[in-house]
Amino acid sequence: MEKLYFIPGSQDLYGEECLKQVAKDCEEMVRFLNEKLKDITEVVLMPTVVDTKACIENCRKASADDDCVGVITWMHTFSPAKMWIKGLQELRKPLLHLHTQANEKLPYDTIDMDFMNLNQAAHGDREYGFILARMGIPHEVVAGFYKNDKVVKKLRDFAGVAKAIAFSKNLKIAMFGNNMREVAVTDGDRVESQIRYGWEANYYGVGDLVDCINSVSDSETDAMMEEYKSKYTMATDQVDAVREQARYEVGLKKFFEKNGIGAFIDTFQDLHGLKQLPGIAVQDLMTQGIGFGPEGDYKISAMSAILMKMAEGKEGATGFIEDYTYDLTDGEELELASHMLEVPPAFAATKPEIQVHPLGIGGKEDPARLVFDGVTGDGIQVTLVDMGTHFRIICADIELVKQPKPMPKLPVARIMYRHKPNFEIGTAAWCYAGGAHHSVVSTALTRADIAMFARLTNTELITIGDDTTETDLQKFFMK
Ligand code: MN
Repeated sequence: MEKLYFIPGSQDLYGEECLKQVAKDCEEMVRFLNEKLKDITEVVLMPTVVDTKACIENCRKASADDDCVGVITWMHTFSPAKMWIKGLQELRKPLLHLHTQANEKLPYDTIDMDFMNLNQAAHGDREYGFILARMGIPHEVVAGFYKNDKVVKKLRDFAGVAKAIAFSKNLKIAMFGNNMREVAVTDGDRVESQIRYGWEANYYGVGDLVDCINSVSDSETDAMMEEYKSKYTMATDQVDAVREQARYEVGLKKFFEKNGIGAFIDTFQDLHGLKQLPGIAVQDLMTQGIGFGPEGDYKISAMSAILMKMAEGKEGATGFIEDYTYDLTDGEELELASHMLEVPPAFAATKPEIQVHPLGIGGKEDPARLVFDGVTGDGIQVTLVDMGTHFRIICADIELVKQPKPMPKLPVARIMYRHKPNFEIGTAAWCYAGGAHHSVVSTALTRADIAMFARLTNTELITIGDDTTETDLQKFFMK
């Protein structure tokens, strides 16, 4: 299981008694946190930092431990922050500064100088906060009594985000083909995204994938078909078209296993050797946590995999989507979001149907795909764009709604949502911010999760929601 290291800070100025009490309080705190977070992480108490050497040792251990996804720090007493500089320079894990105390209430009747010296996070945590700010180390601050539900929830969210960042740092993306010709927003600096997020996004010839697909046996295809039939409703008699997709999925899985791939892209402009654009094959892979971006969009492929990982264990749906078309009825505006084929079944409100229909573009055979109506509820829409000088994450609050009427002639899965605070401001803000038409929608994650991810990866964040105003739109012009 993934671990969070808990590193407390103090110093030896206060004597042995004090340090013993610090260790004891930390043990109790870590015991409590383990009880509360045991389903998602293990919290490991490290030796109290009393000097530079102890800090370096702790941080080196955290950086070298593959199971350690993040570090929690807390200054029980004052801990002069120059002692932390060299250790923090060696720390390569997401960092949380827990601004708390061992005691909830002040013991007004009995408080003396000893108590005040022992329990001085208000003092020590500010000294520590200064050095983090001065060194420009991305970190999350969580303030409050550690047993408070709100604090525990933030620590839980941090564990999820830290786990997603660890996943990101190890993520390999297979690009079958390149960026769709002439499209701007799906492209990006793959050197920079590897430096910042760890993604190894590499090109693979589609021919190598086709070889892999051609090696799939009939019995492997049969087994995949059985899986489809158990999960979805077969609503077509063009079984061969579905079998074609089943072969693609088995072939893709073999390719991914061989190359350690966790996310991929394809493009309908480069499907040489494939009879169909992968449809249900991609949709079914997304249910297994594999990230996907169409038309060469490696950034959204990565983000969809990372946010699915972040949402693990949380209730709700998370996956890739594309902005398509609007109902612009004044005051009741809605968006219809979908894709040519590849809408994640996570969004299905109804049991997905396997259907086969022609595809308007690409000049390939009619592809099999899953068709369904989408889930409802509060959610977020997240995208990541390359601004040339830096990456930018845009996160908008949305409300997923039931489609007002059936769409019997639309042969793809789809979701519908309402923008916040309203259509005029919400979509204008997205356009001003340079938001892509590809994004990840989630009813499991919140803006707070995305803000944490942005802060810990030192990525610019623009948020849109009920707190966005007309005046905010004017700021997006500023360079
Ligand atoms: Mn697209």
